[in-house]
Amino acid sequence: MSRAQSRLRLFTPGPLNTTRRVRAALREDWGSRTPEFSELTQHVRQSLLSAAGAGPAFTAVPLQGSGTFAVEAMLATFVPNHARVLVLANGAYGERLADICSAQCIDHAVLRGNPARPLDVGALENALAGALTFSHVAFVHCETSAGVINPADAIVRSVGKQGCRALVDAMSAFGALKLDYAARALSAVAASANKCLHGVPGVGFVVSRKSDLERATARRSLSLDLRAQWKELERSGQWRFTPPTHVLAALKTALDEFHDEGGADARLRRYEALCSLLVGGMERLGFQCIVDEAHRAPMITAFSMPAGSRLNFDTLFRALSDSGLSIYPSKMHGVDGFRVGCMGDLAERDIRDLLSASADVLEASKMPAPAAAEC
Ligand SMILES: *Cc1c(COP(=O)(O)O)cnc(C)c1O
Repeated sequence: MSRAQSRLRLFTPGPLNTTRRVRAALREDWGSRTPEFSELTQHVRQSLLSAAGAGPAFTAVPLQGSGTFAVEAMLATFVPNHARVLVLANGAYGERLADICSAQCIDHAVLRGNPARPLDVGALENALAGALTFSHVAFVHCETSAGVINPADAIVRSVGKQGCRALVDAMSAFGALKLDYAARALSAVAASANKCLHGVPGVGFVVSRKSDLERATARRSLSLDLRAQWKELERSGQWRFTPPTHVLAALKTALDEFHDEGGADARLRRYEALCSLLVGGMERLGFQCIVDEAHRAPMITAFSMPAGSRLNFDTLFRALSDSGLSIYPSKMHGVDGFRVGCMGDLAERDIRDLLSASADVLEASKMPAPAAAEC
């Protein structure tokens, strides 16, 4: 059987393996201006709010595009003109928040932290108490570049104490790690279909505090304007511009499965079980986790190569790909490592297959290099 026919297994931070039911939902065509599609949109918005555990003060605003589009829309919509944003960054996605601020000419400062450690609430409090005043603090809940869980609720609390508002990129956390939506300083939370919710890529969303959305009139972008998107969805039930119809139908099915399986608690337990099998096996082979257990997200784990090993990322990546197993490069500077995700429609059997294939590649890397052929 060729690899195209056998199942490609994605140990990546999205896109991910989806269930047969989710893929089947892609088969139907939808008219974007029909009552049926408006109903589908409404169902998905409600289902996202209940997945978040957010109360009636919030609304879920969907947006076309990948996760970054939703994050960019969140900053474009919620940061008023002439405001200043403090970006907290302990990895590539935190840096992306700063990049977005630069691209949108939003005045901002970046407070950087160690990529293998969670963001430091004490350092945040010092920065907020400093000379510069900030209206908003933007940060990543689970920093996917090393798989670090940031203390989101504690950050939002200290942001609130200084009278600022919090904007959260919860991409790889939403649907597994909870956030306290009762925290008054929490303004908006961006995520996408194709991470812990196990949908297909093409749509993101921002769980937005309605009172903040109502006041958000900066208007930095036409298509990334969440306030306008919200107003139109409430007024006519329709998206402003062509919606990703099939993708939304797949997200509905993925959300139905998510809720049927027990919601965020069950999803977190599932990732924890897969991750502990993965880490135990990899450590037995000599691979090392880059992040301490206390701060590690079970959704994605970063490893470095065994000490003294000749194995490098490219060799491991290519050999595993030949077996239909897809891992992800490390996003940490100076570390020849890789990341393994436990999100998506993966089971223990898939983790065991990855472990045994990795053991084979490691074993092969210990063999002496073949002698050059004599001629
Ligand atoms: C995946 C991810 C994103 C969005 O990435 P896209 O490639 O635009 O989907 C943003 N932030 C975090 C923390 C992520 O894990």
